[in-house]
Amino acid sequence: FLDDLPFLSPDPLLSVAQQAERDHRIGKLDLTIGVYKDRSGQTPIFKSVKSAESSLVQNEITKSYLSTEGVPTFCNAIADLILSPHDVTCNRLATVQTLGGTGALSLAGRFLSDNFPESVIWIGTPTWSNHVAVMRQCDLNVQTYARSLPTGGRNFAALMDVLTHKARRGDIILLQPICHNPTGDDWSKAEWDEITVQIVKAGLLPLVDIAYHGLGQDLASDLTRLHTLVEQTDVTLVCYSCSKNFGLYRDRVGALLVAGQSNVQPQALQSQLAAIARTNYSMPPAHGALTVGHILTTPVLRQQWENEVESMQAHLHTVRTQLAAHKQIGPCNVQTIATGRGMFCMLPLPPTIIMLLRNEYSIYMADNGRINLAALNENNLLQFVALIDRVWAN
Ligand code: PMP
Repeated sequence: FLDDLPFLSPDPLLSVAQQAERDHRIGKLDLTIGVYKDRSGQTPIFKSVKSAESSLVQNEITKSYLSTEGVPTFCNAIADLILSPHDVTCNRLATVQTLGGTGALSLAGRFLSDNFPESVIWIGTPTWSNHVAVMRQCDLNVQTYARSLPTGGRNFAALMDVLTHKARRGDIILLQPICHNPTGDDWSKAEWDEITVQIVKAGLLPLVDIAYHGLGQDLASDLTRLHTLVEQTDVTLVCYSCSKNFGLYRDRVGALLVAGQSNVQPQALQSQLAAIARTNYSMPPAHGALTVGHILTTPVLRQQWENEVESMQAHLHTVRTQLAAHKQIGPCNVQTIATGRGMFCMLPLPPTIIMLLRNEYSIYMADNGRINLAALNENNLLQFVALIDRVWAN
């Protein structure tokens, strides 16, 4: 039966990360996948998570099935966390716990493809390496546009062209409002306001991906763009990941929220999402969502978690400032890194240099030059910069 199965190449980013894992040379620096590292280079479990987990272990009395929608305290707490108080009361239409941010995107994609089979989904590239693949897997018609200019900055004109000319009423637009992966170069407030106006005017459906909440400016400011959209659009779909800002990567915790001004029957919408989840995985895992729900609803733990997120943001900010102070690294002008947000920036190095750094010096970055800023710290940042300068000069 399966004799002629073709081999599918693994995700290029994951294969570079695996290559880095197998490399045991001294001085190795893995800047590939988006896993937070603290100033000592570790990815520790949050203290707030540890406390919540021990309380759960003590008090958990059953491992019976959850509902398809997941843990209710988690769903309510996430809606309270990311929507404005007014939107939680008036404009929250549905919330479903998902398997991380990827699960939220995939559930949203399937829902959109079932209900809007003729719609195009517009995705600006470069983007998170899995976005296009997930949406195609959901049978959506993906069209891309250049989100970055050839010189590196964000290409607002290209997005405006999509919103005002190319997209048809009912099309979907996938946007990252904060901490853009891979560039770290977010739309300004003025640009976002214009984007929102055009989305409404053109009758488009925004699908918003938030995977780095709190790592941009702070937990509150990082949500202002989302709130603008929810308050002005008929429907906004929000894919939320708890992987980074709770450090729960492997526990697969996320949510799909639908919010907006629509008159849709929330129960009908919720039932549609639940039906898709039911045939996919029946119900999500409990542990991570119970943990997040407990943290967000226990004031002491919530404060501790907020402090932990703040310290991650501060580390990223410091690394950005220190890198940008070099002004030029090899052929790359790095001054704008200081004003970027989130875990990533791009070093537009030629592929030959990226390969040389990888093979000769054990410095691993994505093929497109994206680096995980959290992996840099005072023990390795100067050597990293000096090495690129040296390799480039030769
Ligand atoms: N969206 C973006 C922009 C991401 O960068 C990522 C993961 N790094 C995800 C979604 C998926 O997150 P998760 O690991 O929670 O599935």
